[in-house]
Formats: sequence, C-alpha cells, structure tokens
Amino acid sequence: MSNKDLIAGLQQRLRELDAQALRRRRRVAETPCAPRMQVDGRELLAFCSNDYLGLAAHPRIVEALREGAALYGAGSGASHLISGHARAHAALEERLAAFMAPQIDQARALYFCTGYMANLAMLGALGGADTALFSESLNHASLIDGARLSRSAVQVYPHGDVDALAGMLAASTAEHNLVVTDSVFSMDGNLAPLPALLALCERHGAWLVVDDAHGFGVLGRNGRGALEHFGLRSPNLVYMGTLGKAAGVAGAFVAAHDSVIEWLAQRARPYIYTTAAPPALAHALLTSLDIIDGVEGMARRAHLQRLIRQFHDALQLRSWRRLPSDTAIQPLLIGPNEEALCVAAALYDDGFWVPAIRPPTVPAGTARLRVTLSAAHSDEDVSRLVAALHRLENPA
Ligand code: PMP
Repeated sequence: MSNKDLIAGLQQRLRELDAQALRRRRRVAETPCAPRMQVDGRELLAFCSNDYLGLAAHPRIVEALREGAALYGAGSGASHLISGHARAHAALEERLAAFMAPQIDQARALYFCTGYMANLAMLGALGGADTALFSESLNHASLIDGARLSRSAVQVYPHGDVDALAGMLAASTAEHNLVVTDSVFSMDGNLAPLPALLALCERHGAWLVVDDAHGFGVLGRNGRGALEHFGLRSPNLVYMGTLGKAAGVAGAFVAAHDSVIEWLAQRARPYIYTTAAPPALAHALLTSLDIIDGVEGMARRAHLQRLIRQFHDALQLRSWRRLPSDTAIQPLLIGPNEEALCVAAALYDDGFWVPAIRPPTVPAGTARLRVTLSAAHSDEDVSRLVAALHRLENPA
C-alpha cells in the first residue's frame, strides 16, 4: 500500500464518523474554566465542566500555582523513582493520606499525573494472569483499558447488579479476585451500591477498587468522597480520586493500605516510567485541599446540593428523560445521535454550552445531554438553563 492509500483509508473512516453523526469537534476556550466562558469568540454559560466546586480558577489556588513555580520551577525533570519526586509531591501525598485516613486503614497515598494513568496503574499492579477481574458494565474507559492491560481474566457484571456479581464471585476459582467500579458513573450520575459491593468483597477476600473521579471533594460531609458518603472503611478498599475535577487542578491519587501503595510504587508501570508532574501542581493542590477540607469547601458543597435540587424541581420534561441522579452530573436522555447533536447546537445558539454525549462513550441509542452543575453557578444560571431546555423541548 502506498502512503496515499493509508491516508485515503483514514479519510474514508472519518467520513463514516460524519455519516453517523459521531465526529467530535473541539471548541477553543479563551478564558478560565468558569460558568461564563469566552469560547470561539462568544460568551457562553457553561454546564459542561467537571469543576464541581468551582475551584479551577480560584484566586488562592492560582496564586499557589504561581508560588509553586517560583519555588520549584516548571518541570520535575525526571520520574519519581529517579529524581523527580519533589518536597511538594511528598507533602501532597502526606496530606492526602491524612485526609483519607478516616476511610482507609493505615492509609498512604500516591500522586499520579492523571486519573487515567492511576487506573492503569492500580489494575496493572493488582491484576495479572492469576486474577479474576470483575468489571462493572458502565466503568470508565480508563478502567476498561487498565483491565485489558492487566492480563487478568475479565468478567463484566451488569450495571449495579450485586446479585449477579455475587454469583460470579462464588464461581471464581482464581487465586485473586478484584472488583472494579466507578463510584459515580460519569455519564449517568448515579452511584454504585458500594456498601453491598464492599460486603461482598470482604466475604470473598476480594479487593474493591473504587474510581471516585466524580465523588472526591464533592461527596461526603468533608469531601472525602463516596467512601465518606456511605461511611465505608476497609482494608479491602483501594481508592482512586482525581484532582483535575472537584479539586480544580490536575492529576490523581490512589489511597490504600501502606502495603498496597508500596507495591504500586514498586510495580505500577504508569507510575514508574513517566516524568513526575510539575511540582507546582502538587503545591497548588495543597491549597485546594485546604479549601475542600475547610468551611469554604463545606459551603460550596451545600450550594451545589441546592442547585441540584433546584434543577430537579424546576425541570419538567415530556419526551426527553432525566436520568435518576442526585449528583452534579445530570444527564438528559435524548436517544438518537443526530437529535442530541441538534439540541446541543440549538443550546449553543442560545448561549449555553452543554455537551452531547454519543457512542462509544455511551451505548448506542442513548445519546444524551450531559448537564454538569458547579458550585460556581448561581440560582439564576440554573433557572436560565431550565427555561432554555423547556423552550427547546416544546417549541411554540
Ligand atoms: N475515571 C473516571 C470515572 C473519569 O470520568 C475520568 C475522567 N473523565 C477519569 C477516570 C480519568 O481522570 P483524568 O481526567 O484525571 O485522567
């Protein structure tokens, strides 16, 4: 095949994406992540970020980032196990371990460049050929990829179905069993039945790996996420929280028993073979944790809860369906890809930024608007969105 043929092949595949309304386009944001953003030259009211507490452009965190750059420079220069592990990384890990200690026995934390890498790392280091890995059907792509890379024998259990999982665990003859789930499902907004999953894992001596990307900082009275929300604590828990969503910066951490973390630091390839994140990010995250853990964090979580209630109470849908979610992720199920795209485009024309989520991110036929609320939104912002949705669903 000539080079021209290779390119023509890809162009054909891109046209096929267009034909199925599956081509994705990026919009260029010209201002910081906030409810009001300048996008491709227009001001929009945005309901699309995962900045649930409104910390992404918080002045104290921005200032801490500047201070971190002055203290540590721009780059870490090497991986953590060579020379890239700075005082700021160590301080952040200690702070995260102390923060999560009420939920995890002998808690220690390990900071990763991204949640995607943390998930690959956890599953790669804990899984293996002698492991049966039970994966919830709506798990995030990074957990799916991590499961594949881990070379474990993967079995997918149906969404939220503890009984089905119980049957699978009872039938397992593997040396190690690993149950893996999102806590808050990223495209649906509902919660996994973590207490029942943990009880099952404890009965079977299995690990329970919880991806709390959308819960850390937001759920629980103090922001300790889904584990605090459900009041869970167990040596079987391996917890992953991301730091680029509610925490407003970037990266992720795994918190677990000291020995689990030591094993990850020794064996997890996405931890070992990559340049450490800029220490300034870890420095900024210390301020972010101060906010999450303090009265301001509590006030932001309370405001977010009020906005979620307001959205529920005000939105009356006829043909679209609001998925049953009490979290900041409020998806509206539309169905066909083209229709979801049309609604998102009409909202955009009205000055609202709400993404249409299509396959393969969600199952075919379940394209949806993914509305996300943030503590940075006002009551007025939510009222305006609800009015626009009513207008679009029921044109005069
Ligand atoms: N897990 C879930 C459930 C997520 O939604 C995401 C991000 N969309 C990740 C992991 C990956 O986290 P990060 O963006 O930090 O790579």
